[in-house]
Amino acid sequence: IVGSLVMSCQTTPQVQYTDATAPVEARVESLMSQMTLEEKIGQMCQYVAPLHIEESKKRIKGEELIHNDQWGLYPGMSSDSLRALVSSGEIGSFLHVKDAKEANDLQRLAKETRLKIPLLIGIDAIHGHAMIEGSTVFPTQLGLSSSWDNELLYQVAKATAKEVRATGMHWTFSPNVDVARDPRWGRCGETFGEDPYMVTQMGLAFTNGYQGDFGEDNVLACAKHFIAGSEPYNGTNASPMDASMRQLREIWLPPYKAQVDANVFTFMAAHNELNGIPCHSNKMLLTDILRDEWGYDGFVVSDWMDIERIEKLHHVAANAKDAIRLSVDAGMDMHMHGPNFLTPLAELVRSGAIDENKINESCRKILKAKFMLGLFEDPFVDEGSAAKELFSEEHQALSIEAARKSIVLLKNDGLLPFTSQKKILVTGPNAHNHRLMGDWALPQPEDKLTTIYEGFQQVFTDAQVDYVNSGESLRNPDAAALEAAVAKAKGYDAIVVAVGSNSLRYEKDEKNCGENVGRSTINLMGNQLELVKRLYKINKNIVIVLVNGRPLSEPWIKENIPAIIEAWEPGSFGGQAIAEIVKGDVNPSGKLTMTFPYHVGQVPMVYNKKPSVFFHKYIDAPSKPLWHFGYGLSYTQFAYDQLQLSASSIAPDTSVQVSVTITNTGSLPGDEIAQLYIRDEVSSVTRPVKELKGYQRVSLAPKESKQIVFELQAKDLAFYDIDMKYGVEKGTFQIMVGTSSADKDLLSAKLELTQSKSIDQ
Ligand code: BGC
Repeated sequence: IVGSLVMSCQTTPQVQYTDATAPVEARVESLMSQMTLEEKIGQMCQYVAPLHIEESKKRIKGEELIHNDQWGLYPGMSSDSLRALVSSGEIGSFLHVKDAKEANDLQRLAKETRLKIPLLIGIDAIHGHAMIEGSTVFPTQLGLSSSWDNELLYQVAKATAKEVRATGMHWTFSPNVDVARDPRWGRCGETFGEDPYMVTQMGLAFTNGYQGDFGEDNVLACAKHFIAGSEPYNGTNASPMDASMRQLREIWLPPYKAQVDANVFTFMAAHNELNGIPCHSNKMLLTDILRDEWGYDGFVVSDWMDIERIEKLHHVAANAKDAIRLSVDAGMDMHMHGPNFLTPLAELVRSGAIDENKINESCRKILKAKFMLGLFEDPFVDEGSAAKELFSEEHQALSIEAARKSIVLLKNDGLLPFTSQKKILVTGPNAHNHRLMGDWALPQPEDKLTTIYEGFQQVFTDAQVDYVNSGESLRNPDAAALEAAVAKAKGYDAIVVAVGSNSLRYEKDEKNCGENVGRSTINLMGNQLELVKRLYKINKNIVIVLVNGRPLSEPWIKENIPAIIEAWEPGSFGGQAIAEIVKGDVNPSGKLTMTFPYHVGQVPMVYNKKPSVFFHKYIDAPSKPLWHFGYGLSYTQFAYDQLQLSASSIAPDTSVQVSVTITNTGSLPGDEIAQLYIRDEVSSVTRPVKELKGYQRVSLAPKESKQIVFELQAKDLAFYDIDMKYGVEKGTFQIMVGTSSADKDLLSAKLELTQSKSIDQ
């Protein structure tokens, strides 16, 4: 209390915080000078919205089934008790509000509090506003990244922000800029893949699209999860990560540093521990690197229950209060989970265990967001107009475009596109359901989703398209349904079999991909391979469509099936986009952004591996992947030639132009994705065999040639040297350009860097 009084005397502001014309900083100080300690900590408390709690409790069939330590869905609390906390100023933020109506209801309560501070409402709108019924669902991030189209991602984020704001919400827990290096990890589908450069570029496209200039159609973005949870050592979510400082600096940190430079407003800490310290109580991460080194001035939110887990799971705090102390002291600004935070934290401040300035800092940044977003002026939305913004025609068109560009053709022995097929059977566990939506999506209304079967019906108007249910369960295969599908499979010109995984959040028992769904294998689960093999005996004209949220490996399918399409989880119009590609109305153009291992035992199987990785070979598996990073086919062919550098040597602080000519040598128009990689030939520390440094999507008419140019900066050749100093080392570099990361697909030239130089970051 004394601290508050001293602070308010020192900085008595001249303006009223209610004055919309005053500068944001002054308004924040004005408001803070009138707040009690409890009110300030109240701003740091984020709760799950009342309706979400009620529905979740119903969905998981009763409160008694909830393991509190794991899910923490507020046992003993009701909607009314949550609303009472808003009225007493003890809640600053909500997550997972149901719709515009609930958002308005909660804001009304907040408006009636002493200081009338509006609520900041966050949601996992990570590939569209998909947790809200009736929204546009875009392909999940791994699919979006397979488009290699930053502008498309920017537009997707912008559209998502618009839908989020229309429903009275202001903050998305996206982008996920984790670098995904282990397909056993269930959250690969939430990421932009395995390459740090690509994750950086796409993360920026998302954040810029979301945040814009913080106008009325923009939302706060959240860079998550800080850090290194995407290569957990046994593949399961939230298990420990041990990483050297070199690995951290080279792989995990760069996308986050770029987010800070792009003014991302919020960060979320990661579930996992890093080198023996939980990320949620890791001062080196949350303060030394993030604030002191990088100059970040936004706020950090905890992840679900992770402050509690500092005590309960990691056992580095003796009790809940000490866990809060460790986390806030490390640099945490907001508690996602809500209960049991305010009172202990206030006690910690009063006892001197936490400096009150820490609370002021956190509160200041949270209030700043609310002022910037205009919430003090008007926190309400027009409930009617939400309906118009969701699933608008413009957003539908963007979702279709994104699905078309994200789908990857993995194999085609000439079966595709279908030109003469008049009788088509569509089957497989993912052929006719909501799994195209991926994780972090609610089941959407039937009229807002095109399943694969429906897509084929729409697109193949001059063919007979039949569907047979082969059983949808991936974990408890339905043998009778499989037999029924096989019995029906005779007499078709071709069979389309949709297999893969299921990330749907609300099919808890069935889900085999997504958050908290680790796997020890990466093959097709259940009887899917058996289904494919049985159908193949009847008809060899099979197209496999993979609908999945992580790389899956079935070498038999690659060797035997003539056509394979990787659709990822393509969203609202996925079925249409897949059918258009099969028919040839759309020429496929996506390329993989995660390596597909041949076998799970190869993990980590990444393209940017160190030179010694396969010095000795496996005796029981190939030493190469099933599908390479950067790989994907088209119905036309592209030839690369005339790789040229504008100079054969460069000095630090300069750049070189790398040009190449690409020709569409086939007979159809198509898009090619050209990729630029580098390799340092001799260096003071070991370097990856390849590192992506640029990519471009280029459209080419049949027989058309285009020269494309990459600007490669000398600083793109930099790394951390033997003393962990960042800079460039003189010497020879291979510059490679081509159609995938596989050696055979790349042209190569040499570039000399004339001098070494350290670089300030
Ligand atoms: C996830 C976060 C997510 C949060 C809120 C957590 O379990 O790890 O990515 O933003 O829940 O839904």
